[in-house]
Amino acid sequence: MANKQEPHLNHVRNSSMRPRTRLIHSDAEVPAGFTSLVTPIFRGSTTVFEHAVDVKDTWDHDEAPYTYGSYGTPTTLELAARIAELEKGHRTFITPGGQTALVLVYFACLSAGDHVLIPESVYGPSRSFANDVLKRLNIDVEYYPPLEGRRIASRIKTNTRLIWCESPGSITMEVQDVPAIAETAHERGVTVVLDNTWSAGVYFDAFSHGVDVSVQALTKYIGGHSDLLLGSVTVRDDALYQRIGVTHQHFGLVVSPDDCSLALRGLQTLFVRLKTIEQTSLTVAAWLAERPEVEIVLHPAFPTCPGHETWQRDFTGSSGLFSIVFREPYERADLHAFMDRLSLFRMGYSWGGVTSLVVTPDLNEAPNARMYGDRLVRFYTGLEDPDDLIQDLDQALNSIPQRH
Ligand SMILES: *Cc1c(COP(=O)(O)O)cnc(C)c1O
Repeated sequence: MANKQEPHLNHVRNSSMRPRTRLIHSDAEVPAGFTSLVTPIFRGSTTVFEHAVDVKDTWDHDEAPYTYGSYGTPTTLELAARIAELEKGHRTFITPGGQTALVLVYFACLSAGDHVLIPESVYGPSRSFANDVLKRLNIDVEYYPPLEGRRIASRIKTNTRLIWCESPGSITMEVQDVPAIAETAHERGVTVVLDNTWSAGVYFDAFSHGVDVSVQALTKYIGGHSDLLLGSVTVRDDALYQRIGVTHQHFGLVVSPDDCSLALRGLQTLFVRLKTIEQTSLTVAAWLAERPEVEIVLHPAFPTCPGHETWQRDFTGSSGLFSIVFREPYERADLHAFMDRLSLFRMGYSWGGVTSLVVTPDLNEAPNARMYGDRLVRFYTGLEDPDDLIQDLDQALNSIPQRH
């Protein structure tokens, strides 16, 4: 480890240190040259400077490669660089979770007195943050119908600073006309940010469709195994890199190199997992569409999904998350009975892992689902065999009272 040629180490080696000091200033050596296929896990709060004149505190790696652990280690920066590469962005910040990524963008882009436009179909905790925190900070929060497209122009005010997109929307799955919204926003100097988690940064090219900032919950497809929580914020240009970087530093959004190492592992199998998940989800959704209990399949690849034509135009594939709406007069109790009978589909939040999941949204937390009564169920298909998943759905549907 210690290079014998380095003069500053000589005094250590030559001194007769007491054992307690030796534990901290060791001369132990290992051979160099282990060229692993895997990015090493660098743990560390402190990175030491060679010369006194080099000691400085900056988050910006262009200014100085490493000055403090919270601004990144080689492990966290490797993940950031690979997400930037995947999404074809300028630079990426890694955050402790997807929710932190959303909050980072809100704080970096908004000040008191500003106006922000958020789709009605937004991820629930993002809506809660806007309602509880942004409004308290005197930020004007307005929700818009997700299918607005160019009509968003009428909602843009002189103090509008930020427009959020999430496509497809959480729970109700509307596919947004992101290029039209971005074009309209840019005519008025407004920044556009997209929650790109559903596409994994693979099936929707955010930056070529006009987005300025692309956010992902790496917790989902990049992690891919339900064993980590991380988020990413990828920016189009250096102005946004500077603005978000400073805010990232102020909040001290540190991430564990161990989690980043897992995410780096997940990245390597992202495409093969997504391909299988896509096929399974299409097969299962098509089977559900034929069931008499099901009124609507809200899967972007199906014509019954609002914004399907936009998905066809802008996306290169679909992933594993979709919803269905039961026919009237099925009600919440029936949905619960159905879910309780499922055995392969587990009940739980989050998705993107290997296990298929099912939830029915709380209408207080997902008011956008209200238009479908209390008859919406959201599925995530994992890596099981689709025939087994269909068999599981079949027995569960057959076990509940027939109301169609
Ligand atoms: C899960 C999710 C998030 C939040 O990610 P966490 O890592 O769970 O904090 C944000 N946006 C979308 C669309 C999500 O699905």
